[in-house]
Parts: sequence; C-alpha cells; structure tokens
Amino acid sequence: MSKPAMLFITLIITLMAIATPIVLAVHFADQEGTNTEKDRALGYARDVLGRSESAADQIDAGIEALVAADGDDPCSQASIALMRKIDLVSSYIQAIGYVRDNQFQCSSLGTATAGMPLGTATAGMPLGPVDWVQPSGVRLRINVEFPFARGTTFVVIERDGYAAILHKDLPIDTTTETKDISLATLAKPDAFKILTARGFVKPSWITHLDGHNEATFVDGDYVVAVVASRRYFIGALSALPISQLKERIKTATMAIVPVGVLAGLILALAVIYLARLQLAMPAVIKTALRRNEFFLAYQPIVDLGTGKWVGAEALIRWQRHSGELVRPAVFIPIAEDSGLIQRITERVVLLVSRDVINLFDRHPEFHVGINLSPMDLHDTSTVEMLSRLATEIKARPGNLMVEVTERGFTDPKIAAKIVREFRVSGIIVAIDDFGTGYSSLSNLERFELDLLKIDKSFVDTIGTDAATNQVVLHIIEMAKALKLQIIAEGVETEAQAQFLRERGVQYAQGWLFAKAMPIEELRAKLARSGGASHS
Ligand code: C2E
Ligand code: MG
Ligand code: MG
Repeated sequence: MSKPAMLFITLIITLMAIATPIVLAVHFADQEGTNTEKDRALGYARDVLGRSESAADQIDAGIEALVAADGDDPCSQASIALMRKIDLVSSYIQAIGYVRDNQFQCSSLGTATAGMPLGTATAGMPLGPVDWVQPSGVRLRINVEFPFARGTTFVVIERDGYAAILHKDLPIDTTTETKDISLATLAKPDAFKILTARGFVKPSWITHLDGHNEATFVDGDYVVAVVASRRYFIGALSALPISQLKERIKTATMAIVPVGVLAGLILALAVIYLARLQLAMPAVIKTALRRNEFFLAYQPIVDLGTGKWVGAEALIRWQRHSGELVRPAVFIPIAEDSGLIQRITERVVLLVSRDVINLFDRHPEFHVGINLSPMDLHDTSTVEMLSRLATEIKARPGNLMVEVTERGFTDPKIAAKIVREFRVSGIIVAIDDFGTGYSSLSNLERFELDLLKIDKSFVDTIGTDAATNQVVLHIIEMAKALKLQIIAEGVETEAQAQFLRERGVQYAQGWLFAKAMPIEELRAKLARSGGASHS
C-alpha cells in the first residue's frame, strides 16, 4: 500500500476512533435521560393509582360494613351513625349514604334539625343519572354538583345501594417538584376513560396500555406513563413535558461526553502509534538488513520411522539493536507488503551459504529448507540465486529444499515454470502450510512438487474432537494419491507422532523432537549422533 493511502486510512480510522466513543456517549446519555424520565413519569402514575386504590379500598370497606349492618331500614339511626363513623375515619371519602331512585335517602352529611332525624339533611338530594357502570357492578357518576358546595364537582361511587362521594381532585392533588406535569385518573366502563385530569392529557395515550398493566413512551412533546390497577377497574396516567427530558439529556451528555472524548483520544493515540510503527517498519527493516540484525535458526526434520534427523528448515530470526526479538509473523507480512521480502530472501540465502558450508560433506543425505515468498516464486532470478547457492555450499541434488505456500501460485503459469526449473536444478520443492490457503487440487497436480507440509493447525486437531479433525486424514490420502512425501509440522506430542506414523507419514517437525537452534548446535548434534538420533 502506498504511503499517502496508508496515511489517509490512518486519518479516517483516527477520526472514527475519536467520533465513535462520543457518538456512543451521546447515544447512551440520550437513552439514559429518556429512561430516567420514563421512570419518573411511571413513579407519578403509580402514586396517583396508589391513592385511587386507597380510596377504592376505603369505599369498599365502608359499603361492606353498611351492607353487613343493614337491617330492614338502611336509614336507621344505627346506620346513619355508622355512616358518620366511616366518613370520619376515611381520609378520601367526603360522605357516604344510601341511594334510591338517583337520590340520597340519608347520608353521613347534615346535622339534626328540628323534625329531621340525624343524617337526613341530604334526603332527597338528587345525584343525576349514572354515567358509567363497571364490569364489577360499581356505578359511577363522574360530575356531580351539590347544592351545599356550588362550583365543586364530585365523583359518586355507588354499589349495593350505597354511594360514596369523593372530591374529584383528591388522587391527582399531589404536590410534585415538577411543574407542568399532567396527571389523570382513569376508570373503566368497558375501556379506560379519563375520570379526572389535571394539565394536558391526550385520550389516545390510554390505548398504549394495550392490555398491559404499565406502559411508558414518548409522544410528541411528552414522556408518558399509563398504569392499570390489578384490583379495580381503575388506572392512572402521568405526562412530563419533553423540555425537562431535554434538560436531563443535556446534563447526562455533559457528564458522559468528556469520558467519550478522553476514550476517543486514547484510542486515536493508539491508532496513530500503531500506524507510525507500521509506516516506520519498512525503514526499520532496511536498517536491520544494513546492521546485520538477521540470523537463522534451524529446526530439524525427523524421519518418523527411524528418528533420524534428515534435514532442517532455516527460519529467520531478527534481534533488534535493543536486544528485542521480533517474530517473523510480524515482520514477514510487512516485508511482503512493502516489497522488501526479496531482500530478506537474499539475506537468508547469504546466511545459509555461510552457515551450511561443508555440512553436506559429512552428511550427504541431509537437506536444508528455505522459505520462499510469493514474490520469489514469480521472479526467474530466484532460481539462479539458489543454483548459485547450491554450487557455493556444494549441495548435491536433494540437499537443498525450497518451501512455497499456496499464496505463491497467484500466477500459476510463471510459478509452475519456476518450480520446474528448481527441480531440474536438483532443488526439492515442498508446499508449505498446506490446507491454510485457497487449496486447489488442480494446482497440486499442475505443479511438480516433491513434498507436502501439513500445517500445524491440522496436526493440532489430532486426538481432539474438533470439527476439522478429519482434514488431516484427507490431506494424507491426497498427498499419497499425488505421490508426494509428507512432513507434518508442529508435532508436539508422542500421540500425534504415533498417529501420523501409523498413517504412513514419513517426516515430522516440531517441539516434540527439537526447537529451532543455532547452526553450531545443529552441527554438534549431527556430529555426535551421526544424524541417527533425535535428542
Ligand atoms: P513456517 O514456515 O510454517 O515455519 C514453521 C513455524 O512453526 C516456525 O515459526 C516454527 O518455529 C514453528 N514451529 C515449529 N514446530 C513447532 C511446534 O511444535 N509448536 C509450535 N507452536 N510452533 C512450532 P517461526 O519461526 O515463528 O516462523 C513463522 C513463519 O514465518 C514461518 O512459518 C514462515 O512462514 C515465516 N518465515 C520464517 N522464516 C522465514 C524466511 O526465512 N523467509 C520467509 N519468507 N518466511 C519465513
Ligand atoms: Mg516453512
Ligand atoms: Mg509451515
């Protein structure tokens, strides 16, 4: 990738790194604010419902007592005395009385006047027709005015002949620190209707309940909560103006956004740091080449039948000036992307020429493997370079091996030609990391390969119940069908070695046998054992 493109992408990622936490912070502040406001609205609605239920409880208990005490005369002195007692002890009931023909016959109201028994001052007082009849049989008059209290309206709740008078505003007469709050009580004839209300209330809000006991939502300029009683055919509603929500969101945003900005900045700095590292890496690799910071380690390849070390793979190592070891998995991809990989291959070839000199005199059957990159496989000079190396280290056919990956077959025509030339020059060709790329059988047939290296990821599945544990068997069968010899990579346990041995895999490489080692160590071990042992 070109430097300007890289910088552009870095810039975009940096901006995103800053913006994302802020956008998320604002979003969460919004959600947080809305939820808090919905909870507040719900609190008010529950409070109103609670008061309405208390009123209903008192009426229920009062009427229950009157019905129980009721002899032949519901307006007896004893009855009226009970009415007055009920009235006195209940906080919500203004008065309670006996009703017939839409008129109070007697009630807790009124005082004894001459010729009029106690409690009969309201006798004959008209209540008007019933407005709503509830499924429970409770009859409601929702707007009753009494001659003794002109200008004030009451709700009259009637059951079993007795009726209680409630002040209309009592349940919604709560003091709240919120101004502009709307509150309403609801009651059902068949569906909920507004019984009493304070502030702006939209009748359609009630439908949001939709059979549930509670609902909260935002509608237009209001955050609304509607609740229904589980015990009575009543409900309550509260609505808070959205301006208050906006205020809350603003407060929450003020609190969260600085955290978002800080997180964004930290992320952005991390992105910039990594991008600079990435951008600087090619230059650092060039310096490392100049300063000879690269060296090779050799990992033995073992004959699974005899335990003999039959070869070794040259693996590049980079120790920086500072002493830090950089893994090939980090710098090889960067070298490939920045076009430096061929200089690395050249360096590997140079290091092999120094390390391996005279090795084959003593160990004529031994081979040394070199990893090639896809670029190497599309450049005809690679063959010349390796042929020269073969001459320098006095390699006979079979002493030198190259490892290529499937990624190297992007232009199969050129790659196939180069592979053929390697083999003509006596260089063995192995396909590395087999199974991890876009494997194509036709590729395998088309290229004249000698060896197939099964990738460690498949060896790892041996003896496990991973879904892919059959793949290793298929690869072995395929290699056999194509008459390729097999090296299993990354063998770490004797069980894996045994499994592979039993399936006819000839060679293996892995920590079970040996880790990559300096050339001196490899030479020493080979000398000691004559190449016949693996420890
Ligand atoms: P690779 O060619 O597949 O090399 C095998 C990798 O597996 C090596 O890692 C080796 O140290 C590791 N390995 C071997 N046995 C075991 C084992 O039993 N357990 C575990 N966990 N790992 C094991 P390394 O040296 O880090 O190399 C990583 C990759 O870097 C290589 O994979 C190869 O693709 C690339 N590479 C290494 N040296 C060169 C080089 O000189 N040139 C090029 N182009 N690529 C290289
Ligand atoms: Mg390899
Ligand atoms: Mg490999």
